[in-house]
Amino acid sequence: TTRIERHYYDVVVIGAGGAGLRAAIEARLAGKKTAIISKSLFGKAHTVMAEGGAAAAMGNVNSRDNWQVHFRDTMRGGKFLNNFRMAELHAKESPQRIWELETYGALFDRTKDGKISQRNFGGHEYPRLAHVGDRTGLELIRTLQQKIVSLQQEDKREHGDYDARIKVFAETTITELLLDGDRVAGAFGYYRESGEFVLFEAPAVVLATGGVGKSYKVTSNSWEYTGDGHALALRSGATLINMEFLQFHPTGMVWPPSVKGILVTESVRGDGGVLKNSEGKRFMFDYVPDVFRKQYAETEEEADRWYTDPDNNRRPPELLPRDEVARAINSEVKAGRGTPSGGVYLDIASRLPAEEVRRRLPSMYHQFKELADVDITKQPMEVGPTCHYVMGGVEVDPDTAAAAGSVRGLFAAGEVSGGMHGSNRLGGNSLSDLLVFGKRAGQYAAAYVDETAATRAKVRTADVEAAVDQALAPLAREAGDNPYTLQQELQAVMGDLVGIIRRKGELENALVRLAALRERVATVKATGGRRYNPGWHLALDLRNMLVVSECTARAALEREESRGGHTREDFPKMAPHWRMVNLVCSLDGDKVRLEHQPLPKMRPELITLFDRTELAKYLTDEELADFDALAA
Ligand code: FAD
Repeated sequence: TTRIERHYYDVVVIGAGGAGLRAAIEARLAGKKTAIISKSLFGKAHTVMAEGGAAAAMGNVNSRDNWQVHFRDTMRGGKFLNNFRMAELHAKESPQRIWELETYGALFDRTKDGKISQRNFGGHEYPRLAHVGDRTGLELIRTLQQKIVSLQQEDKREHGDYDARIKVFAETTITELLLDGDRVAGAFGYYRESGEFVLFEAPAVVLATGGVGKSYKVTSNSWEYTGDGHALALRSGATLINMEFLQFHPTGMVWPPSVKGILVTESVRGDGGVLKNSEGKRFMFDYVPDVFRKQYAETEEEADRWYTDPDNNRRPPELLPRDEVARAINSEVKAGRGTPSGGVYLDIASRLPAEEVRRRLPSMYHQFKELADVDITKQPMEVGPTCHYVMGGVEVDPDTAAAAGSVRGLFAAGEVSGGMHGSNRLGGNSLSDLLVFGKRAGQYAAAYVDETAATRAKVRTADVEAAVDQALAPLAREAGDNPYTLQQELQAVMGDLVGIIRRKGELENALVRLAALRERVATVKATGGRRYNPGWHLALDLRNMLVVSECTARAALEREESRGGHTREDFPKMAPHWRMVNLVCSLDGDKVRLEHQPLPKMRPELITLFDRTELAKYLTDEELADFDALAA
């Protein structure tokens, strides 16, 4: 028989990024025995890579800022598809979550009078991002880890054991959630290094597993981001929403192939970098949409003057919102004016003296030197859109973070959850999202454990055996496709057919190809044994990537409009009647089911924060009539 290590916890948190750590702290503070599980090393989550800052309407730099303005900006950014209650809670609670981090030991940059400094960012009306230089995510993770250590020291004093009430299981991957009827009963997985299995029995599980980017060939995401939490939720009876909405960042590296997708910071363009096609043309002037025309320069001369005299000139079109720039680059490449490696040129070398480039963009200088052997003070960079963030995710109750659907005891927070950002996320709103909803998930998971204490959910032996069989199957097979081949094929389908610009025929083709891939993934073969075997791990991840990709492709085919992170070439406009619809994904056996669900109606005191002229861009006539009745 297979050896399985067993643990008993009250709350199991899957994921050790900002959302997971904040949830775990809250569950432990509520007195619950808590486990934190992380697929990679402790501290190496996407959260650590975030640079810009955490958005919170503290009003430190501009006292006119408040939660209402932040709420409005967030709803606009998401093109009104956001779950309004989540956007409201996020705007109201972010400042407290940031201040609280300082009580854990965070040190944010300060204003002259000693307040937490806040910086400007796209889509935010006032300076709003609390930051620590350009390594805010690192400070966030460092502080949350420090808080956990201090709680463990408390437990050592009280119980003689650091791990008595909160323990980290690093390099441990969860492959299956176990149920007792409609209730969560535990989580099953393996240790990455030894390949040994481990079972966590717990009545409450918090999903905080982050994103799905590794289903795309070009992505800023790292290897762990295979949509595990999304898939675990689906398989346990929870639902996903908004899966058609992915954020493509316009500038990722495109060469060499081994580093394709790694992020090239927006600061390159902010500091004067320009985009050119293979003919040397600064093409962004051709891509300024009508709604933005008044705010953007029409000539290169005017655009260049803006950097030194922003009051009397308009912004360069290279600084349009991310989705616009990403689409423009995509069009140039498709029209045959791309670079040999399929990107466009980003040129800072001819714009600033070499020493200035090295001073302002030291990490970009190093990144290109080391990874691509390109000296950005002498040569242009090759860049193209890269899959960066998923707006869609586990459908949750906005107040409690409890997963919707048929399962109880399951909670989700951070990038793995859906609704908060609607069709497009504003920069900086992710870090604050993690803190606000991470805390709520931990709090309500703990409360759920108390409520259900009388009848603790039990793991069934047969389910554990099934999870073991499922995990060992790729190693046991005589023959089958290689996991790396299958991942490449999946990435090609998603990148080519469900990418930044989508078309009906291509999406239909994608679904056919995903169905074929799904069958091959069901018989994937990994060579070697259980000790540290990345091929085996990928074979297990593929099952998750496939089902989540199918949700994205289906929702993208269904939504016949363009909004935020979903662009349909055949339906290029935003359609008011689609604003009233969330597309909900669930599993029926192993079939993906897609349903329309009406969006919750914004409460009167929230909708009246907007002007009628603005609402008219988004709402149906019927909704506008309701608004008029309210306003009257
Ligand atoms: P993550 O931080 O992604 O952590 C997920 C955790 O889940 C990890 O510990 C992982 O190991 C674990 N996990 C996953 N699957 C499993 C499994 N099966 N079993 C066990 N553990 C599992 N946002 C901003 O607001 N501002 C920025 O400036 C910014 N810059 C960014 C730069 C880059 C390069 C990237 C990639 C993202 C950036 N983002 C930024 C987005 C933001 O960083 C992420 O959305 C956010 O950190 C996600 O946090 P999270 O806690 O939800 O998950």
